Amino acid sequence: MSNETPRGNNFDHWLDSYAARANTLSVSEVRALFAVVSRPEVVSLAGGMPFVSALPKELMEASFDSMMTERGNYALQYGGGQGDLRLRDQIREVMALEGIHASVEDIVITTGSQQGLDLLGGLFLDAGDVVLAESPSYVGALGIFRHYEAHVEHLHTDHEGLDPDALEASIKQLKAEGRRIKFLYLVPNFGNPSGVTLTEERRHRIVEICRREHILILEDNPYGLLYFGEKPPVAMRSYEEDCVIYLGSFSKILAPGLRVGYVLAPPAIRDKLVLANESALLSPSTFTQMLISEYLAKSDWQGQIDTFRGIYRERRDAALDAMAEYLPHLHTTRPDGGFYLWVTLPEGIDSKAMLPLAVTELVAYTPGTAFYANGGGKSNLRISFCYPTPDNINLGIKRLATVINRQAELLDTFGAR
Ligand code: PMP
Repeated sequence: MSNETPRGNNFDHWLDSYAARANTLSVSEVRALFAVVSRPEVVSLAGGMPFVSALPKELMEASFDSMMTERGNYALQYGGGQGDLRLRDQIREVMALEGIHASVEDIVITTGSQQGLDLLGGLFLDAGDVVLAESPSYVGALGIFRHYEAHVEHLHTDHEGLDPDALEASIKQLKAEGRRIKFLYLVPNFGNPSGVTLTEERRHRIVEICRREHILILEDNPYGLLYFGEKPPVAMRSYEEDCVIYLGSFSKILAPGLRVGYVLAPPAIRDKLVLANESALLSPSTFTQMLISEYLAKSDWQGQIDTFRGIYRERRDAALDAMAEYLPHLHTTRPDGGFYLWVTLPEGIDSKAMLPLAVTELVAYTPGTAFYANGGGKSNLRISFCYPTPDNINLGIKRLATVINRQAELLDTFGAR
């Protein structure tokens, strides 16, 4: 009989061997619940999955066919670490819609903007370095900053986005403490999770402050083209080239399964990014880059973005209407684009503790604590309206209201507030 521990149990024989940084990779506390959430009877307002069913599959098939016919061998081969030149040229057109006029030389293709963030984390962050961020901030970026053992300092943020006065005050204090500030990380358009857009006036002030203080701005903008009314203000990168690193992605305007994003960086940083990309991946997927390139060359991609905008606008309206109908006393942000609403719960209700109860009522959301590195966000939750149908959004928020109201009653009954 073998004396080996059976495979498949959770005992990890290599605990003593991991690098210290492996400890920064923790399973999300809510992930276990997300397995339950994928049951069809649960309305999930949790994940930020783009509604890819709205992308006609014939469009992708046509791109695939012409790619294989015209550039098949190239698409199946390794490529360069900076990414395909033709695609980089086409990305210039996409970025021009955000007011950015860039050179193909300064664009680096990545495996989703998530990998762009990771490469930047690896290039710039030493343990203990400070990253300034909005309150709340994108969970995936927080995970990367944690992995590189950076300290995230959340700054005051309101309905106009990050507050420049708070930025100035925080920089002053951190510098006085001798801390090294590396980045200001921002999602300026239709933020994840807040849904908030940074005003034009604040953009200019923030750029001015960061330029003066020699702090890099990571302008992470996957949602900017998904506006529901007016276009948002132009990207900060359009008026500041030296201290802004701009991240874009095809995940929300085309399809996340392709895993193609891009970084626009000042030349010295761009060179390092290409080396880092080569070291990590050799090259980003030529295949999906070529597929996107064919799609951009031969289909009405701007018309497709319009279609996405229409669908997400309808869903945003469904979410806001349902909030007004079932939870009129709660504060929620009113996004002008993107995927998310940020909800503030009645005092005393803990959104993470409430989640199992919500799942029992067949609705799921993301607790606010996921979007803070410091334990904040207990009384907030994020609602994603991108994936469920308008009817399901209504049903989900109705169920959520039942759970929240029951929690509030319990707190009142037991005098806990
Ligand atoms: N930044 C933000 C703000 C996001 O919301 C996401 C995806 N949810 C990403 C970056 C990563 O996107 P991707 O890697 O698919 O380009």
